[in-house]
Amino acid sequence: MLRNDQLDQWDRENFFHPSTHLAQHARGEAPNRIITTGSGVHITDRDGTTLLDAFAGLYCVNVGYGRQEIAEAIAAQAKELAYYHAYVGHGTEASITLAKMVLDRAPSNMSKVYFGLSGSDANETNIKLVWYYNNILGRPEKKKIISRWRGYHGSGLMTGSLTGLDLFHKKFDLPLSPVLHTVSPYYYRRDDLTMSEDQFVAHCAAELEALIEREGADTIAAFIGEPAMGTGGLVPPPKGYWQAIQPILQKHDILLIADEVVTGFGRLGSMFGSDHYGIEADIITIAKGLTSAYAPLSGSIISDKVWEVLEKGTDENGPIGHGWTYSAHPIGAAAGVANLKLIDEMNLVANAAETGAYLNQAMADAVGGHGNVGEVRGEGMLCAVEFVADKASRTYFDPAKKAGAAISGALLKRGVIARAMPQGDIIGFAPPLCLSRAEADEIVGKTKEAVEEVF
Ligand code: PLP
Repeated sequence: MLRNDQLDQWDRENFFHPSTHLAQHARGEAPNRIITTGSGVHITDRDGTTLLDAFAGLYCVNVGYGRQEIAEAIAAQAKELAYYHAYVGHGTEASITLAKMVLDRAPSNMSKVYFGLSGSDANETNIKLVWYYNNILGRPEKKKIISRWRGYHGSGLMTGSLTGLDLFHKKFDLPLSPVLHTVSPYYYRRDDLTMSEDQFVAHCAAELEALIEREGADTIAAFIGEPAMGTGGLVPPPKGYWQAIQPILQKHDILLIADEVVTGFGRLGSMFGSDHYGIEADIITIAKGLTSAYAPLSGSIISDKVWEVLEKGTDENGPIGHGWTYSAHPIGAAAGVANLKLIDEMNLVANAAETGAYLNQAMADAVGGHGNVGEVRGEGMLCAVEFVADKASRTYFDPAKKAGAAISGALLKRGVIARAMPQGDIIGFAPPLCLSRAEADEIVGKTKEAVEEVF
């Protein structure tokens, strides 16, 4: 085993980390925590420090760390057949079984699942399929995609454009022109504080409709949204939001892509966010919870309506020219099958609902009254605390204060990993779905201490 100082040196000399301040990392100012083991909701680093991971990696290790059932399924698949491609009708038992298991759990209007590797490539697939769909239907002008400010859909060229967060555009010449952004369904940060929740929902719907009319419905192919926003600040939608948005999309024949990379497979306390909020999507994006990140795998679940057109398209044009070498990778698929079984056996969707509600209530009770806590919000096993300089006026802190990062630092000192979300002073919690009440109490108790230390 390498010595810590050797690893540290190799890390700084060779490894280009994603979403990292490169110069600070090179100078040794940024953390380079090297993780060695994980079990349940805990991870342990090279120095032997054990931390409660209240963000489940990047809200993806839904079943928790160290699940032997998944490790064994991966090992068995690797020994038997590590790889074969899925092009021109090839498959493996694992990929075919997983497709069936996903469809058995998905909303009833869904027809097929296409497997990719990451949430980003799944959304790239979705946009290409939506374009293909409109070309087959003889509507070559219907190509623009609407997403929301603060939405997160990945960091590729198209998906980075769909993402509505400045950090992912800055100096990358994004967003690309086929992408339009509409208002974020972020009630706490509405421009007009006198608006009721109903009025705000009506405002979001009116803004969407105005955008569609301005651009022309015959130029707009799809709307993409996370059922509850993740990276943009863990923001559940205001009540009635999806019920207000969907009829507008239907009226203008605009497809709805529900990006369930975070919300799929139980995070909100329902199998899918679409079930949770009554969304009837045309395409659903899945990743993270599909394998609990034991192996990289994503998917695009395609509705009957879209599938019919795709199938017709290939009769007219030949095979669909879209695929990755690693689409439906057998090892990822084996991990997915074992993971979905475990989600059922451990009753994790129900636990996300119950323990998630407990965590959210306990967090609100513990810190909600603090003068610098603007809002505690969440749904299922998502919980956010938003900090403000002044509670009544909702004034932001000076960004230089880095209040969110200060709280996550104070939590880390106490052995809890929470995520300082990329925009605004927001601390996010999205623990593994197996979290117990005692672990929820630990997160809440230490958050209270961190808030008292920082403010
Ligand atoms: N969509 C959503 C809602 C996400 O939260 C993410 C990642 O966090 C993505 C897409 C992109 O997934 P990946 O990082 O696997 O490319």
